[in-house]
Amino acid sequence: MAHHSDTQVHKIQAAVLRRRSGPLKIESLEMEGPRDDEVLVRIVASGICHTDISFVDSWDETDGPIVLGHEGAGVAEQVGKSVKSVRRGDHVVLSYQSCGRCRKCRSGHPADCENFYEANFGFARLDGSNALQRSGVRGHFFGQSSFATHVLATERDIVKVPKKLNMEVLAPLGCGLQTGAGTVLNSLAVPKGASIAIFGTGAVGLAAVMAARIAGANPIIGVDIKPRRLELALELGATHVIDNRRDKADARITDITGSGVDYVVETTGDSKMYRLSMDMLNPHGTTAFLTGISGPDSLPERRTTLSIIQGDAVPQLFIPKLIALHQAGQFPYDRFLKFYDFSEINKAIADSRRGDTIKPVLRISET
Ligand SMILES: [Zn+2]
Ligand SMILES: [Zn+2]
Repeated sequence: MAHHSDTQVHKIQAAVLRRRSGPLKIESLEMEGPRDDEVLVRIVASGICHTDISFVDSWDETDGPIVLGHEGAGVAEQVGKSVKSVRRGDHVVLSYQSCGRCRKCRSGHPADCENFYEANFGFARLDGSNALQRSGVRGHFFGQSSFATHVLATERDIVKVPKKLNMEVLAPLGCGLQTGAGTVLNSLAVPKGASIAIFGTGAVGLAAVMAARIAGANPIIGVDIKPRRLELALELGATHVIDNRRDKADARITDITGSGVDYVVETTGDSKMYRLSMDMLNPHGTTAFLTGISGPDSLPERRTTLSIIQGDAVPQLFIPKLIALHQAGQFPYDRFLKFYDFSEINKAIADSRRGDTIKPVLRISET
């Protein structure tokens, strides 16, 4: 008898990046799976994160076509035999991937996973395989590649959510919002009454602003170059905002606090803001860099810097917490979502690049 393979193949639609800067093109692909430890998720909606756009803008096309997207939400359609926490029909939000085996993962710190790069940016499973290989495309971005009708996730990056909630609103919790809020609430654990400045009030920065209000920080100073985003920062909890194109941020911060600030959250990646984020710190203060860079080894008077990944959040604990805060009206991030049909993905990216849309969310299928 011929060898019987139980590998299933699913026809999916995915937005494929074939050359630097795009455009992404929605194509029919074949996806194998799910394996025993995987869940096949039908994607209902996906946020678009700044990291997706950075990949579009910097992708080396000689590395072959890829599927991006890492803020997916959807319905578990098939569940591998060894998966315990998710059942068929469950509604899920997807977050970042981690290996589950290294020292950091085993001690409850998956954001510090020793295999973080491979698990999230390797465009393959950790064993090197790729479920989209029949189509000559690579996926598994952040353990998902959610610019697609279907993805494969694992228990490490899946968060079960209540069915009564709108998945289009939940989708973007998986990366940017978790990162901004987790930085303030987990990594920095900003105490009540501390002063904080948030550099850049895009989706990540605004999540940090809302979290700073939840923590009781005061003042909460938002710095950006887009007046519309600064208005929103004020509505969401900033006590002061600085338009860095019109005013000098250092002088204004000194006016507001009489000195510097206890915490800075730096989300811009701009070299001047990098310097300023440390220059404006009070002694014993901490700057959190969210753009993948690190600060100098030491700073005077016990100032410190942290390079933070995913707000040190354990998605299965933190995303439910963010959902509860949202339900309670304390984390009203739905104010800056804008919805697009999947077919408008390139427009959504363009609007986000220009800063016209703070957080685009793609509608991919009906709940
Ligand atoms: Zn790990
Ligand atoms: Zn992201």
